[in-house]
Amino acid sequence: MVQTLRSGWITTGPKTIDFEQKFREYTGSKYAIAVSSGTAALHLSLMVLNLEVGDEIITTPMTFASTVNMIVLQNLKPILVDIDKNTLNINPERIEEKLGPRTKAILPVHFAGRPCDMDRILEIAAKYKLIVIEDAAHALGARYKDRYIGNIGDLTAFSFHPNKNITTCEGGMITTNNDAYAERLSLLRFHGLDKDAWKRFAQNDLPLYDIIFLGYKYNITDVQSSIGLHQLDKLEYFNRRRQEFAEMYNDHFDNVQGILLPNREHKDIKHAWHLYTILLDLDRLRIDRQGFMNKLKEANIGTSIHYTAVHLFSFYKKKFGFKNGDFLNAEFVSDCIVTLPLFPQMTHEDVKYVISKVKEIISKSLK
Ligand SMILES: *Cc1c(COP(=O)(O)O)cnc(C)c1O
Repeated sequence: MVQTLRSGWITTGPKTIDFEQKFREYTGSKYAIAVSSGTAALHLSLMVLNLEVGDEIITTPMTFASTVNMIVLQNLKPILVDIDKNTLNINPERIEEKLGPRTKAILPVHFAGRPCDMDRILEIAAKYKLIVIEDAAHALGARYKDRYIGNIGDLTAFSFHPNKNITTCEGGMITTNNDAYAERLSLLRFHGLDKDAWKRFAQNDLPLYDIIFLGYKYNITDVQSSIGLHQLDKLEYFNRRRQEFAEMYNDHFDNVQGILLPNREHKDIKHAWHLYTILLDLDRLRIDRQGFMNKLKEANIGTSIHYTAVHLFSFYKKKFGFKNGDFLNAEFVSDCIVTLPLFPQMTHEDVKYVISKVKEIISKSLK
């Protein structure tokens, strides 16, 4: 990073080219296009499809609002499909009933880093000629049947926000195996210019450029990409730590009254463990979620909520007429989910401490 700062070239340039190459090699995808955020990656993935205003995109309510916001900002219509309570991912068996003549794409989110049932989703997509865009903000390093996430759907969006599995402070990446998408995406991220500043100045190309279509200003800087190169080297280690801690949590919280867990991962999937979440079995507890989180805070343990189901936000209720009761599984989860600390710098002692406090609070609060 310091070398980049001193080099005289700090915005998109050689480090970004290296970062994209390394990312491609890691995921096995043919192309990787670096952008300024995961949100930008989703936005451009939708934009590159050249859809008509009002075309429909199938996605999940159990995600960060960015996923659905980008669908709406691109003047497309989000069609939500409820989740499977055992995986917290979109339930593929409920997709077909939501398809219509204007449905153009399926946008699954690999919640917490757990890959969706991609065989089933690809099968539906092939049957109805739909594009598959994956929101893999949580899923860098995750695998589905020996393929890395990033080399499965038509387009995959990753995030390098500070709380994700690797970070570039802010940043994102789109992977694809499609030549036409890749070419368009690299222009869409920078005003639609047919050649960027790096090509025009540093590589002695002609200074004149053309604008072929409108694009955004979503490029990433070389300072960020230089961080990304080193972060990518550590990804497997980071994810191993995450997995180890998640397994400790799973082993201790399995069959604990008052706590519900998603199904364990099975042989077809490798989880990236971006988040470790539990569901509070509120019917059995005398404490509510905020009370539980407050008690952990008193013990110096930070928690969070990922996520409030998107259709419950006032904008979405007003704009699309969503209401409570529309997606019962997502609402159930939205009301009782809690994210526990999970990051590579934790020690085994930290994890054991969280486990003991969680169990203590839950056992004292059982009805
Ligand atoms: C973080 C996140 C995003 C957006 O990524 P940014 O880099 O913060 O823009 C999109 N979708 C999901 C599921 C996320 O968790």
